[in-house]
Amino acid sequence: AAEAGELVVSNLEVVYNDAVLVLRGISVSVPTGSVVALLGANGAGKTTLLRAISGLLDFHRGDITKGSVGFAGADVTSLSPSHRVTRGLAQVMEGRRIFQSLSVEENLRAGAIGAKGTTASETFDRLLDMFPVLAKRRRDIAGYLSGGEQQMLAIGRALMSGPTLLLLDEPSLGLAPRVVEQIRDAIVSINGQGTSVLLVEQNATMALSIANHAYVLEHGRIVSEGSAAALMSDRNVADFYLGGG
Ligand code: ATP
Repeated sequence: AAEAGELVVSNLEVVYNDAVLVLRGISVSVPTGSVVALLGANGAGKTTLLRAISGLLDFHRGDITKGSVGFAGADVTSLSPSHRVTRGLAQVMEGRRIFQSLSVEENLRAGAIGAKGTTASETFDRLLDMFPVLAKRRRDIAGYLSGGEQQMLAIGRALMSGPTLLLLDEPSLGLAPRVVEQIRDAIVSINGQGTSVLLVEQNATMALSIANHAYVLEHGRIVSEGSAAALMSDRNVADFYLGGG
């Protein structure tokens, strides 16, 4: 479909525990095939927004009280997480939540939710081509991988479901600059194969270097948006997120 991988979040409001208003009317779009960055300080609501998009809010006593999540031309606001995965939406959660005691290969195979057998094995082969580091460590226990390798594995596992949109929650967190570069290159090649990306990052320099468009979230509201180039030259953004001022 023309809208494959397209995300349209409209006027989304999210409340935790029937009490705390955390997202205050958010509208965000990820056009087909693009990389969109979402910047913001700790506690701004970035993870909450990703959870609302992937359907993982309810486990955290979070509720959408207004607005909608549109994906690939359909309203998915009240679909279960697994139905969203089936439709092509995958999330990589913050903190590289992989199965520590399983092998790299087992972790990847576990990600093949909803994918048919043949598709899954094709995707698996493609992933090993794309991430030689995972190919090399295929039989190793995931818990012994380095931080960067675990992040690659977490991303690889999400890709096993064959998503058209990938949600990434701070993939560069805690990684050395050289490893951040590898993650960045991986995102570029994933996007190059046609998957749209919504990238949550505190590393604004990295995020803006690959994004087409970016949003800045503060206290549950979008306070700024524009092309990555425009945001990079915006003084407020630069002072706050690019280590300037
Ligand atoms: P971080 O980068 O630290 O993850 P964030 O921008 O992703 O920050 P969120 O994790 O979305 O922010 O949190 C937004 C607000 O919602 C914070 O004030 C947080 O304390 C609150 N919050 C998050 N999860 C819950 C929950 N399960 N119950 C109640 N409040 C929550």
